[in-house]
Amino acid sequence: MNNRRVIIIGAGISGLCAGSYLQMNGYDTEIYELHDVPGGLCTAWKKKGYTFDFCIHWLVGSSPSDSFYALWSELIDMAKLKFVDHEVFFQIEDGEGNALRVFTDVNRLEEEMKRVAPEDTGLIEEFIGGVRKLFPLRYPIDKAPEVMNPFDGLKMMARILPYLRTFRKWERITAREFASRCKNPLLRRTIVHMFSPDTSVFFLLMTLVSMHKKAAGYPIGGSHNFAALIEEKYRTLGGNIHYNSRVKKILVEDGCAKGIELENGNTHAADIVISAADGYSTIFEMLDGRYVNEKLRGYYGGQSEKLKAFPSLVFVSLGVARTFDQEPHNLVFPLKKPVVVDDSIRHRELPVRIFNFDPTLAPAGKTPITVMLATYNHEFWVRLKQDDEENYTREKERITAEVIEALEGRFGNIKSTVEVTDVSTPASIMQYTNNWKGSFEGWEPRPGTMLLRMDKSLPGLDNFYMIGQWVQPGGGLPPAIMSGRNVTQIICKKDKVKFTTQA
Ligand SMILES: Cc1cc2nc3c(=O)[nH]c(=O)nc-3n(C[C@H](O)[C@H](O)[C@H](O)COP(=O)(O)OP(=O)(O)OC[C@H]3O[C@@H](n4cnc5c(N)ncnc54)[C@H](O)[C@@H]3O)c2cc1C
Repeated sequence: MNNRRVIIIGAGISGLCAGSYLQMNGYDTEIYELHDVPGGLCTAWKKKGYTFDFCIHWLVGSSPSDSFYALWSELIDMAKLKFVDHEVFFQIEDGEGNALRVFTDVNRLEEEMKRVAPEDTGLIEEFIGGVRKLFPLRYPIDKAPEVMNPFDGLKMMARILPYLRTFRKWERITAREFASRCKNPLLRRTIVHMFSPDTSVFFLLMTLVSMHKKAAGYPIGGSHNFAALIEEKYRTLGGNIHYNSRVKKILVEDGCAKGIELENGNTHAADIVISAADGYSTIFEMLDGRYVNEKLRGYYGGQSEKLKAFPSLVFVSLGVARTFDQEPHNLVFPLKKPVVVDDSIRHRELPVRIFNFDPTLAPAGKTPITVMLATYNHEFWVRLKQDDEENYTREKERITAEVIEALEGRFGNIKSTVEVTDVSTPASIMQYTNNWKGSFEGWEPRPGTMLLRMDKSLPGLDNFYMIGQWVQPGGGLPPAIMSGRNVTQIICKKDKVKFTTQA
């Protein structure tokens, strides 16, 4: 130990990863977490024998063909995790018997797209051509950009240069814009549903590359199991987590972070404070907005043209006493009657996840099903829960009933087999993770954000860092481990400690 004490706010994947790397490098760390479980958004919950998984659809770096595998292997025995590499990413249907299957194998995907939308052959070839061009790209992630020397910078440029034209071409258009060029309605909807409609198409291409390489698998056991493995690593390295400990303030003296104050009034001193919690509450509540510049005000004040947070979710889970062996595990189908989520949005299509691929999440013969309904209206749900608990419960029941009705229409034999229902709302996301606006990730990977370097420190404040999805546009689990690892490199460099990934 080098006797430097670091306090980390948040036991999400970013906080746990940062803690693990800092422990490896001789720092004495403590994590303070408001909830009573690890993982933050990377979570799942149990109800009457069913596990409802919230997060992991795919983990980039699930095989050695992707650079992130080496990083995950520094914290987890990846060989022991069993991954499912789906043949089909998702299936989109038109309600009239036609479907487009988004195969993870790009050659099969091209064939399928051309079968369904021969009138869009040119566009399909352009899109799939973009994916193929990116096959050899291995983005350098070993060293934090903040600690790179000019030679590292040159090496990185040399690696990236061959892909610059592809990047420029696809980074600047959104999925929605690209989709609008497709003549075929099913293809149009497929592109929009690949991620979120305002995502840069470059992000879609990279996701398809990872899937094609079988490097974006689903880990059996799901999100909670995954988070628990990283928590275990952190503890094995000597780290300490305080659950049910909400941080209220970050203590500052003479422009240096000196520790934290918890909601219960207890204070804890530190040489360095890292916030792996939500960006807005860190900057504007825990630090009272004292360390901001115009750029940060723009990001969180909505003035930034590029940055917009992912929406929140009404997340409906069902435990169904039957199997779905012949059904796709992930599908989107149109609704005869739209589901009204709140006063801002109604959904005309239902995105459904059927966990028929992970037998650990329900007893034999039973299946968890989840439905994600996006909304930007977190205020509606927070207000309803606070002011009118009865109506809040009624709204959740109404949405569940409409979802069950729609699933009955699509699959049949649902109503009579539903054993368990559960609804999480934007208010639940805020309660259990405090994520800004109940967003389900951080900043969307919109055009102009993919090379945006957001500072991990704040102007005028020393010995303080921010990590996680609010300083890495795109969010997700790979940026969580990367930012935890990178911040450790930054701190090590400052303290003249040689960075290591060994225990
Ligand atoms: C529905 C859904 C699907 C997703 N699918 C995928 C996927 O397939 N692949 C993928 O890579 N990513 C996926 N993600 C995104 C991924 O889960 C997140 O981007 C990632 O987990 C963020 O990690 P984080 O540690 O940066 O933040 P968080 O998980 O938000 O962690 C922050 C932690 O800080 C704690 N905290 C906040 N405020 C305080 C405070 N004041 N005091 C103490 N503790 C505090 C919170 O409780 C939380 O535990 C998905 C997310 C969701 C919700």
